[in-house]
Amino acid sequence: MDFRLTAAEDAFRDDVRRWLAVALPRFLAVPAQREPRTAAERIAASKAWQRTLHDGGWAGITWPRAHGGRGASIVEHLIFNEECAAAGAPDSINLAVALGLAGPTIMACGTPQQQARFLPRILGGDDIWCQGFSEPNAGSDLAGLRTRGVLEGDVIAVTGQKIWTSFAQYADWCILVVRTDPSAGRHRGLTFLLVDMKSPGITIRPLVEMTGEAWFNEVFFDDVKVPRANVVGEIHKGWDVVLTTLAHERGGSAPHARLRRELHGLLDLARRRPRDGVAAARDPRTRQDLAQLAVEVQIAKLTAYRNVTVIQRTGRPGPEGSILKLFWSELEQRLMETACAVLGPHASLAGDEPRGVDANVWTRELLWTRSATIYAGTSEVQRNIIAQRVLGLPRA
Ligand SMILES: Cc1cc2nc3c(=O)[nH]c(=O)nc-3n(C[C@H](O)[C@H](O)[C@H](O)COP(=O)(O)OP(=O)(O)OC[C@H]3O[C@@H](n4cnc5c(N)ncnc54)[C@H](O)[C@@H]3O)c2cc1C
Repeated sequence: MDFRLTAAEDAFRDDVRRWLAVALPRFLAVPAQREPRTAAERIAASKAWQRTLHDGGWAGITWPRAHGGRGASIVEHLIFNEECAAAGAPDSINLAVALGLAGPTIMACGTPQQQARFLPRILGGDDIWCQGFSEPNAGSDLAGLRTRGVLEGDVIAVTGQKIWTSFAQYADWCILVVRTDPSAGRHRGLTFLLVDMKSPGITIRPLVEMTGEAWFNEVFFDDVKVPRANVVGEIHKGWDVVLTTLAHERGGSAPHARLRRELHGLLDLARRRPRDGVAAARDPRTRQDLAQLAVEVQIAKLTAYRNVTVIQRTGRPGPEGSILKLFWSELEQRLMETACAVLGPHASLAGDEPRGVDANVWTRELLWTRSATIYAGTSEVQRNIIAQRVLGLPRA
């Protein structure tokens, strides 16, 4: 593995920095974009940032030019993410399903008509997408899903329930997996659909998370008619398409960039908050915890670089991606726990409580990051993948 960048990659980093130095302050000058308060403002800010990226030629960095992307390499993508995080650019998490899952799946498996219809709107941040995979009895074991799709002429009639569907209440479109042939084996007889979330027969019930916010939902489908033109891949062969989507969900990410930003925020907090009469940053135990986190953020960075090297060599994410997912998700939880230890009793203040520190963001993040070891594959599932597919250990 060689961590040195080429001259062209260094030049790319300079380009990103130059563009961010102009575009980001202009974007953040709008108060509702700098500090979006309501869910609607956060969605609008994500769309506006995506539009800014699009106008600057930075949307869909690794997407092929033929699909409107920049055609950049995965290393350049990593550099771009590092620079955005360092500069404090917004995370477009509300568009993560669109850009990270729906777009790449449609590019890989969709028809030319689907590509022409959906990809430009995804790149421009026009549509919010959600992912309708999990069901009450099908999460880690996704192939156990039961939502039915009945072929009726030119449409597929969908009836069933999805759960934990992030952003469904704001979504324009959904990538949905349904069972169209119940007599076939578990991984067969599935079909992958693109569903208009305004279709009659869809009911969305938001689920309140322990942060007090409601980003994910139960989604009920009652005889929802989906045109056959919205099938991705072949009918009954949706599992192949699902694997394409999941490969994008579990590989190629650069979480160290966000973690480094959070670590710097924590170091700043420790310099400001007192502990036993001195700044927490001078307290020996806290210093040890901070040093350990700094080392681990560096390990996350090197693990991300190692993944990128594998993808560069093989052209696709491998099972080693699970090492990074497992490590960063648990590290982010430890980081937030340390932040709350630095805060002491103030960590028990949450929401709009005015006596809190930093608008109670650390407590909110402590609660939110509990989900990191569940979504995109739980820690237990990642350990299974590492044991069986990376280490070659036998199944229990
Ligand atoms: C914040 C958040 C957002 C989400 N957004 C979406 C979304 O937009 N769309 C969507 O479709 N889903 C979404 N999910 C759902 C997520 O994909 C599932 O929660 C996840 O796959 C786990 O499934 P489950 O909740 O059904 O738990 P289960 O699979 O029932 O697991 C329960 C427990 O058993 C363990 N377990 C399960 N199987 C094994 C095994 N083989 N070996 C060892 N242990 C095992 C798990 O690790 C876990 O601890 C989201 C989840 C979260 C937390």
